[in-house]
Amino acid sequence: MKRRKFIKTTALGSLVLGVGCSTDPTKTHLITFSFDDGFKKSFYRAAEIHENYGLKACLNVIASGHFPNFKAIDQWIRPELLGNFKDWNHFVSRGHEVMPHTWEHLNLTKIPLDQAKANIDKCLAYFEKNLDGYQTEKAIYNYAFGASNKALDDFVMTRVWAARTGAWWFMKEGETANPIPTNTKPIRIGCWADGPGICDDYLEKGINDFLASPGGWLIFNLHGFDDEGWGPVSTNYYDNLLKRLMDIKHLAILPAGEVLKMVS
Ligand SMILES: [Zn+2]
Repeated sequence: MKRRKFIKTTALGSLVLGVGCSTDPTKTHLITFSFDDGFKKSFYRAAEIHENYGLKACLNVIASGHFPNFKAIDQWIRPELLGNFKDWNHFVSRGHEVMPHTWEHLNLTKIPLDQAKANIDKCLAYFEKNLDGYQTEKAIYNYAFGASNKALDDFVMTRVWAARTGAWWFMKEGETANPIPTNTKPIRIGCWADGPGICDDYLEKGINDFLASPGGWLIFNLHGFDDEGWGPVSTNYYDNLLKRLMDIKHLAILPAGEVLKMVS
């Protein structure tokens, strides 16, 4: 049922709007590997691995992470590990997706709502000024710690195309995948993450369960490779994983923005 609906929607979208879909409409399962924080070494590696398979990486960065006064958030997010907008624009020029991952990595559910809104707007304004080709209305806002609430999401969805938050606080019991979008209305999308140790086993199980399901859009929130970031993924595992997933005909691996563009 889901599959039939998806094919119909995407085919119609192409026909009426004359815009080609960025993926094959026979894909019933979409996976986004959404890398957060902006670890320089890991993000270059992510770009390279994805390019080897003809894929675009989904990279989300902290707007002020490269400022001289940016302080370590915790033992994982340390200023000396982070890249800057020269790196981010370089990734954009190579065809990868770079999106906002907060102004300064605050948990916005723990500060007053007005302050949180101002913090979000500051982040989006910085991206508009500094990231090549960036448009807020086409962006995905990726909350720090996957922490948001309805009031924050409602606000964010007046600004961007999608608010990416933790799936654990709003999805129903047993639900893991988001529905594949069928229109261009701003949406909330849920992601999953595991840490602080290596997340390979978690990814493996999540993907196998998802592939055995009727389909949808599964989003994993990753950070760095091997020794970088909270819940890192092993380079070898990830490389082999993509290699293996590329052979599955009904599956597409896409950055979040590319999934949204499928219905535009
Ligand atoms: Zn983060």
